[in-house]
Amino acid sequence: MQFLEFARICEHLEGVPGRLDLIEQVAAVLPRLDDEELPVFVRFIRGRVFPDWSPQKLGVGPNLLYDAVAYVVGTKRETVREAINATGDAGLAVERLLANKEQTSFFIQEMDLVEVYRDLERMAAAGGQRSQREKLRVAQRLFGNARPLEGRYLARLMLEELRIGVGEGNVRDAVARAFEVDVRLIEHAHQAMNDLGEVALLARRDPAALSHVTIEPFRPVKMMLAQAGTIAAQIADHGEVAVEYKYDGSRFQFHRVGDVCRIYSRKLEEVTGSLPDIAKQLIAATDHDVILDGEAVAVRDGRPMPFQYVIRRFRRKHEVDSMMEKIELVPRVFDILYLDGEPLMDRPLAERRTLLEGALGAHVAEQFHVGDVAGAEAIYGEALGLGHEGIMVKVLDSPYTPGVRGRLWVKVKPGVETLDLAVIGAEWGEGRRAGMFGSFLLAVQDQGRLLTVGKVATGITDEVLSELYALLKESVIARSGKEVTLEPKVVFEVGYSEIQASPNYESGYALRFPRFVQVREDKDVDEVETLDALVERYRQQKNGQGSLPA
Ligand code: AMP
Repeated sequence: MQFLEFARICEHLEGVPGRLDLIEQVAAVLPRLDDEELPVFVRFIRGRVFPDWSPQKLGVGPNLLYDAVAYVVGTKRETVREAINATGDAGLAVERLLANKEQTSFFIQEMDLVEVYRDLERMAAAGGQRSQREKLRVAQRLFGNARPLEGRYLARLMLEELRIGVGEGNVRDAVARAFEVDVRLIEHAHQAMNDLGEVALLARRDPAALSHVTIEPFRPVKMMLAQAGTIAAQIADHGEVAVEYKYDGSRFQFHRVGDVCRIYSRKLEEVTGSLPDIAKQLIAATDHDVILDGEAVAVRDGRPMPFQYVIRRFRRKHEVDSMMEKIELVPRVFDILYLDGEPLMDRPLAERRTLLEGALGAHVAEQFHVGDVAGAEAIYGEALGLGHEGIMVKVLDSPYTPGVRGRLWVKVKPGVETLDLAVIGAEWGEGRRAGMFGSFLLAVQDQGRLLTVGKVATGITDEVLSELYALLKESVIARSGKEVTLEPKVVFEVGYSEIQASPNYESGYALRFPRFVQVREDKDVDEVETLDALVERYRQQKNGQGSLPA
């Protein structure tokens, strides 16, 4: 497939409003792709370049994009920036700039979809001191060969936001439809393989093999997630449940085979080098080949320290040793997904727990089996007393479902309700806050789109505001008056008093009294609250059953 055809398909899909039509049209394309093209197309069409499990990162920010396009159209970085500001969309701006240039250029080399992928791979591989120059060189070549429409999607692909409304669920359904396979099989294989591209290939070549796809060491799966809920509802629904402390640390996945071990963060970045102490403790605690799921906690004098200490260690690449002395991390392992060649994701939690206790001599998180509300509440009180965030209430016969935020794991913690939201824009501050952002535009996700749900300006000290400015200033992709559009990269946890129906925001809802809580550095934008979950919270609130205890 030529990249031009891919761009035409994207342009067409951008105009398709209905989910079912969208799925059908993506499904219609898949069978005619060859084996090399199929996985690339499946990733590209939802704005992804690499498999979800892969630690590869493109590392292209708006500045590199401006420079590459400026070079190709023979103008200054500022001109490109201004063009993007004027349209509010990097893709459309690049398209227009290339259209002006097209009249003067004679030679364009056809670009093939797979070749574009290889070039992007080259960009990701460019590391070290010369990395920016090498990335720029490849980007210049790509834009140099791009027709205007190709430029639109190339720019968006480099920023990993295609804006055509095709989310993971749509692609999964399209693959199932294209190759006439049960969507549950696709979903199951996807959870274990963590790459829809490869799953699509398998669905075409050997659908029977889909049910045998299993988790493999050094290929991290997405973390299983929890929904907010109550002790009473969870026990009413399931009777006896597993109650664990909710540690306030940072999630990790530990993979070990023989002498080799790797640790992945919640975003599935490899963090082994930053966490030698966690690696050492876990290696010492088991002789088995394992994949473990747990939380890294910072401890001082036996008491947990706030989450910020832990995340600092996860980010640390240099001087790990001196940092280790300051912040001691210990692992609390609460799940096992693989043991000596045996995949365990489909086994019930209770069984996994027994295997975990057998395989790991230390660092297993505490777990209590409880069948009555009073008993669970007592553990909740104890958890808070020990300085933990709250408790997790888990269904004993549940499988491990990577990437799913469901009711199989329910989190119970005190305090205001919060939502994790994408930061997609900001407004310049005034007075003391001039020269930095004063308020932030927030969004939920819905089928691959980000929909606004409100702005947050309170709960932020001047010091934090200037930190947020430093964090976000490189992500500005457009300016208009007092407002800027940001490349969605950062997730805020935001408290609120109520969710209200509102025509003022694209989601149809607004937050009453939104309040900044913290930056969720451990979360990617594709993990922010979904519109469906927001609507569910809105309904619960209307029915008078808050989803969290008072
Ligand atoms: P939240 O980040 O608020 O959605 O809460 C879910 C997170 O709590 C998980 O992603 C883990 O990082 C963390 N966590 C702490 N203790 C546990 C536990 N015992 N089981 C599962 N997750 C836990």
